[in-house]
Amino acid sequence: MSETLTAEETAEFRARCREFLEANSFTRDHTDDPRSEKSMVQTKAFQAKLAEAGLAGIVYDKAYGGAGLTRAHDKIWREEIGKFGAMAFDLVISHGMCLPILNEFGTEEQKTRYMPANISGENVWCQMFSEPGAGSDVASLQTKAELDGEEWVINGQKVWTTLAHLCDYGILIARTDPSQVKHAGISMFIVDMNDPSVEVRAIHQIDGGQHFNEVFFTDTRIPAANLVGPMNEGWRLATAMLMYERVAIGSGGSGISHDHADRLINAATKRGTITDPNLRQELMKLYSHETAKSLVALRTRAELKAGKAPGPGGSLGKLHGAIVAEQVRNLTFAIMGAESIAWDPAPGGGEKWSNGALNTFQAHIAGGTDEIQRNIIGDRVLGLPREPSVDKGVPFADLKVGTQSKQG
Ligand SMILES: Cc1cc2nc3c(=O)[nH]c(=O)nc-3n(C[C@H](O)[C@H](O)[C@H](O)COP(=O)(O)OP(=O)(O)OC[C@H]3O[C@@H](n4cnc5c(N)ncnc54)[C@H](O)[C@@H]3O)c2cc1C
Repeated sequence: MSETLTAEETAEFRARCREFLEANSFTRDHTDDPRSEKSMVQTKAFQAKLAEAGLAGIVYDKAYGGAGLTRAHDKIWREEIGKFGAMAFDLVISHGMCLPILNEFGTEEQKTRYMPANISGENVWCQMFSEPGAGSDVASLQTKAELDGEEWVINGQKVWTTLAHLCDYGILIARTDPSQVKHAGISMFIVDMNDPSVEVRAIHQIDGGQHFNEVFFTDTRIPAANLVGPMNEGWRLATAMLMYERVAIGSGGSGISHDHADRLINAATKRGTITDPNLRQELMKLYSHETAKSLVALRTRAELKAGKAPGPGGSLGKLHGAIVAEQVRNLTFAIMGAESIAWDPAPGGGEKWSNGALNTFQAHIAGGTDEIQRNIIGDRVLGLPREPSVDKGVPFADLKVGTQSKQG
């Protein structure tokens, strides 16, 4: 199918998207849902209808459950859904990160078996990278996978696994050869989250939510066929997934938007503080940053549309998101005063200011911290010298990382 649409095709597809959205959109009230369970039910129902209408997984092949359309169609869909609020937010990891990895690196069997139910939202997937001793430096991971006949045996622990308690499958990276240097000797796997040997424990968050988890594997057995990509080349795949993650986090939306600034300008106007020159200056900074973030996202999306795999530029969008989050937090406290400290739910409903402000902290950490994004931008976008690496050429088994640091 041609990547360029005629004006008529564009208008026709736009009308189809709009018609679907007008008939099926809903408002996701995630703040009353500490475990995301209610909103996941709504999201899955929405996604199922989308699949039925032939609009789910727009750019993926029909053979794998997608709509088999082009990036140009995808752009139109994003523009239209952007007018309706984040209905499929609970699928950001499943669709924004796990799905492209399956599509790019999965075997034919893995793609036909797993992609259709992922695309339709029947199955939801999580990402299991971080460990207690391996976050920014995720290549220090210690969860191991050992081949035993036709099965891999997994032992270890992951942490911060978003929505693991509601997921059917997870993409896991584990160490398969500790005699190699740390970035080698890692492989990627598909894990059935409903296996009884997989234990998921909730983490309680500062905002009252429990959206992410610790995940423990004790002699978890998975078929040899669940290896994604070549054995011991998982780091290459993990890096690709992190790039997709930064794009998924930092490049949402479609056009130029400044929703946070609009919301806060509205709040300051209602409270009569909009005439304060200092506040106006900070609101203008937020407005400008949101505009810049939208432009960076538009460029990333245009690159994807042109067939470029996501590169380190995704870190720019992710970092802009974190800068916006900090400005939103500071402005919420400045405008709402005590109301942003009082715990939600606010009497009579209304905006959940404290919850929103507390939630902004995650933008600096999830998907790689601000410092790590700056390192990536420095090294790989600006071409600055790389950080010195003390573990270069050292076999993983000889490194003092995680619990290994307690030895010898
Ligand atoms: C909301 C949320 C959802 C998440 N979801 C998932 C998920 O679904 N799956 C998953 O696998 N993980 C998930 N994570 C984990 C996330 O990827 C890690 O928290 C993140 O990579 C940071 O790792 P860490 O917490 O171990 O911090 P550390 O790596 O220990 O970092 C601690 C501090 O040191 C700084 N630092 C570390 N290295 C450097 C360096 N080289 N240069 C400069 N500063 C440095 C960091 O910036 C940070 O300030 C999630 C996190 C959050 C907040």
